Amino acid sequence: MAKRHTDGNGANGGGANGNGAPGALGQAYPIVDHEYDVVVVGAGGSGLRATLGLAESGLRTACISKVFPTRSHTVAAQGGISAALGNMGEDDWRWHMYDTVKGSDWLGDQDAIEHMTKEAIPAIIELEHYGVPFSRTESGHIYQRPFGGMTTHYGKGTAQRTCAAADRTGHAMLHTLYQQALRQHAEFFIEYFALDLIMDEGECRGVIAWNLDDGTIHRFRAHQVILATGGYGRAFFSCTSAHTCTGDGNGMVLRAGLPLQDMEFVQFHPTGVFGAGCLITEGVRGEGGYLTNAEGERFMERYAPSTLDLASRDVVSRAMTVEINEGRGCGPQKDHIHLNLMHLDPEVIDQRLPGIAETAKIFAGVDVKQEPIPVLPTCHYNMGGIPTNYQGEVLTKLNGNPDSVVPGLMAVGEAACVSVHGANRLGSNSLLDLVVFGRSAAQRAAEKTARGEAHKPLPSDQAEPTLSRLDGFRNAQGGTPTAELRLEMQKTMQSNCAVFRTGDILAEGKTKLGQCWNKRGDISVTDRSMIWNSDLVETLELDNLLSQAMVTVASAEARTESRGAHAREDYPERDDDNWMKHTIGWLDQEKGTVTLDERPVHMQPLSNQVQHIPPKARVY
Ligand SMILES: Cc1cc2nc3c(=O)[nH]c(=O)nc-3n(C[C@H](O)[C@H](O)[C@H](O)COP(=O)(O)OP(=O)(O)OC[C@H]3O[C@@H](n4cnc5c(N)ncnc54)[C@H](O)[C@@H]3O)c2cc1C
Repeated sequence: MAKRHTDGNGANGGGANGNGAPGALGQAYPIVDHEYDVVVVGAGGSGLRATLGLAESGLRTACISKVFPTRSHTVAAQGGISAALGNMGEDDWRWHMYDTVKGSDWLGDQDAIEHMTKEAIPAIIELEHYGVPFSRTESGHIYQRPFGGMTTHYGKGTAQRTCAAADRTGHAMLHTLYQQALRQHAEFFIEYFALDLIMDEGECRGVIAWNLDDGTIHRFRAHQVILATGGYGRAFFSCTSAHTCTGDGNGMVLRAGLPLQDMEFVQFHPTGVFGAGCLITEGVRGEGGYLTNAEGERFMERYAPSTLDLASRDVVSRAMTVEINEGRGCGPQKDHIHLNLMHLDPEVIDQRLPGIAETAKIFAGVDVKQEPIPVLPTCHYNMGGIPTNYQGEVLTKLNGNPDSVVPGLMAVGEAACVSVHGANRLGSNSLLDLVVFGRSAAQRAAEKTARGEAHKPLPSDQAEPTLSRLDGFRNAQGGTPTAELRLEMQKTMQSNCAVFRTGDILAEGKTKLGQCWNKRGDISVTDRSMIWNSDLVETLELDNLLSQAMVTVASAEARTESRGAHAREDYPERDDDNWMKHTIGWLDQEKGTVTLDERPVHMQPLSNQVQHIPPKARVY
């Protein structure tokens, strides 16, 4: 039976094995040591799939998670997971590959995309055998539904490619993977908050974490650390992701002096509930719902006269943002748009949109039969993240080589940028990314690591910077509460780095974020305890969010073209001559400045016959 660790069970206390002996702060924060072959940080779909693969291969594996595994954001995924199974009509993984390359607006790495779409088929069958309760066709096969951008014959027909377990696919996957990982004796450290990577001369040697339940500090030594910490949607005021989606792994990577990739690419959904961010499905507009501004005008008539409210997500999101920026937003602050359903037959609402009616009631206090829902374009997915190759190994640019592997460090899931989604992700390709690359990363780590191999000694002062950051925030007595600074950052990202960007708006965002960065020194934390100190957790999370926000805005300002989700009004065309490349960005933690560089897009797939070349640039 697998252990759920709450008390450092089986560990050595106080740096007792003579490695990394604690300094002055080490006395105040005694360290509990652990040794594993591999440590996975994160227990969402990607972390659990990696953990399961590692445990199956016989490696001693620990999985650390700040929330209970089945509370990870993956649980909220509804629509489904793509794979060219062909259960409901003809399909081919090559068509899936073409759709994904095209959907990425040609920025996705074709070797990784080939790997994902080809491996999708065995990966889904494997999930089925693990016990994911997929919905079924009459003949007993996995049920598949059509999804945006998924086609047959290279764009000619509509593919039914998205495998679904009703509208709870993420929930079904997460529970199955957790149970299977327990069955394989993976060890879970639940409600442990990972603080920092242990880096030694460019190599990752482990991770330091805080046990929220009893306040102890833990050092996990590992031959490979796999970051599976999810996206950073909470950098924005309005997002569909959970409060826990603060991109902590990305923050840890930046503090380790490593870059993040393609951070300017953030996907927005037009209709998140104002303030709460919960998703209101496109289906509402499909049933006849429409958007209005403060003057009650159906403004989409001006932006998309034929498709109106059902224009593509980026077009609608941009139109809404223009209305707000030009002072025609609704409410006292003129900061949102109205989504109207009142004219619909109440029976349509009861039968086809009951979930939405409930969401609007709970999160906006609105009866959709009587009044409009306040909505706002809402951050939905981060295409950017930790650069990796298709085997999950983290990359950096070293001595001119943009594909240098960082020894000991891997990343998977929304935290990583493989890059299969490039400038824009297709719906149902994220859940797929989690399982395919979670599985590949486990296989790669198993190839590289011998079971039970001894760990080298750590440098003596190795934990000092982490403990001093923790101690600094814990005792912070400034005048700016964490929630206030977080709101300032989120509002800045929402107004200066959302769907609709210009050089001026982004430059202003950069200045405002610089001010937020400086206010970190004036942060105020009121709770000084080490046990379930949510004030301190939120402050550490804010620090992670801020550093990612800084890199996001700097990358967006630098990219003077429009591609996928990055729409620059001042540069409306895709510019393949100058910008067919990934952005990579480092953050100087002392100065708060971002340094940018580039990596080439991998246009070369794994097998020659499936390469795709972009057509002439289009205007957005
Ligand atoms: C509302 C919604 C609906 C979606 N629907 C779909 C869909 O239908 N199809 C699809 O393909 N995609 C969908 N997506 C996208 C997809 O669900 C996510 O991209 C994906 O679930 C992310 O999984 P993950 O494993 O990377 O991370 P997550 O599931 O976010 O998990 C992150 C894990 O990291 C841990 N962690 C984070 N920080 C720390 C730390 N400091 N210390 C310790 N542990 C830490 C957390 O505890 C958690 O276990 C949806 C997303 C949302 C928000």
